Amino acid sequence: MANVAVVGAQWGDEGKGKIVDWLSNRADIIVRFQGGHNAGHTLVVDGKVYKLALLPSGVVQGKPSIIGNGVVVDPWHLVGEIAKIEAQGVTINPEILTIADNACLILPIHPALDVAREAAASAPGAKIGTTGRGIGPAYEDKVGRRAIRVCDLANEDDLKIKIERLRSHHDPLRAGLGLEPIDPQALLAQLLEIAPKLLPYVKPAWRVLDQAQKAGKRILFEGAQGAFLDVDHGTYPYVTSSNTVAGQAAAGSGLGPRGVGYVLGIVKAYTTRVGEGPFACELDDEVGRHLATVGREVGVNTGRARRCGWFDAVLVRQSVAINGIDGIALTKLDVLDGLKTLKICTGYRIDGEVLDYLPSSLKAQAAAEPVFEELPGWSESTSGVRSFKDINANAIKYVRRIEELIGAPVALLSTSPERDDTILMRDPFQS
Ligand code: IMP
Repeated sequence: MANVAVVGAQWGDEGKGKIVDWLSNRADIIVRFQGGHNAGHTLVVDGKVYKLALLPSGVVQGKPSIIGNGVVVDPWHLVGEIAKIEAQGVTINPEILTIADNACLILPIHPALDVAREAAASAPGAKIGTTGRGIGPAYEDKVGRRAIRVCDLANEDDLKIKIERLRSHHDPLRAGLGLEPIDPQALLAQLLEIAPKLLPYVKPAWRVLDQAQKAGKRILFEGAQGAFLDVDHGTYPYVTSSNTVAGQAAAGSGLGPRGVGYVLGIVKAYTTRVGEGPFACELDDEVGRHLATVGREVGVNTGRARRCGWFDAVLVRQSVAINGIDGIALTKLDVLDGLKTLKICTGYRIDGEVLDYLPSSLKAQAAAEPVFEELPGWSESTSGVRSFKDINANAIKYVRRIEELIGAPVALLSTSPERDDTILMRDPFQS
């Protein structure tokens, strides 16, 4: 019985939350391994909507859930999210939630820096379009070896030393952006005030996972964002600051790579992205507006409109390779209902040459013109269909063509945001 890693195969917002929630039923423990509260996961259960950003989606089903070491944790946001989700009737206690003691914190100085930098980015192409949640600056402090970690919350002296280290790095940066220097007493007081609310959940998460693995428990790794927002493999610099690919599931949770098991890529039946950066298949026409409106393509956390375009098989094929995807969950097929003709991108024309992959250079990415093939659309509704045999022939043709082009089979098909509107074709945990 394999563990399963769920990753976004495009630019995020593929509908991972729903799939993780659905798979949670079959898992014993769920772990987030990268990103922070820049992620936005919407779950719909019996018409009730749950919006999660930092909590693993498994908590809604009462499954033990871990915020792994690869995640950057904003304690104030987390405490607020716990209160919000508890108000919806979900129980969060230390039996349900574990926070890795070696995860790094997002402090109030991080979103301030994130937002100030974006505001000051006036040169063409300089704005990234971040979520403004402080994700980048927090990861910078992590790799710069000056971050405050979750475990430090238990020790006031450690906090004082670390705040001094942060001041020497951040104050010159802040001065350059017109921000006041860090107030060390105020920051210490904020941290000491929040610490007791977090510490009951804090454990060496790698041990919890090691013990779970040895006891034969099934682990579900929950990715955030998507492959082309990966700091190495994405459309750099228009990416997030973590590795979002499946390889990170091991490093970001503290389990060896063999523990990851089956990799399930979540793939939307068309393409969207939020923020700046190249997007060859983007549509600024009626079809683009159809996808945005019918697909309700608005950011869960930030309320930003998502950019929409045709399905890009080149991107997803690349994603299958860099993630080691074994099978995909195809989401939002119903959004295509009613479109007369569908297009799939099968290559990029760059400087007169057709490539079957996305090159790394930003200049080439920006110059890429999609090469499309056309397929007939369908007028029948696929929304809420719960059996593959009830899906119309043209929609099946579309799904089969996607499988062929990307080189991975469909394991799950999601036909609405509702948990139960999911067609299982191959069980990832049994593969
Ligand atoms: P950051 O992660 O806030 O630094 O933002 C960097 C880039 O990643 C921006 O283009 C964001 O729009 C994008 N991004 C971050 N999180 C998500 C997500 O959950 N879904 C889609 N895009 C995201």
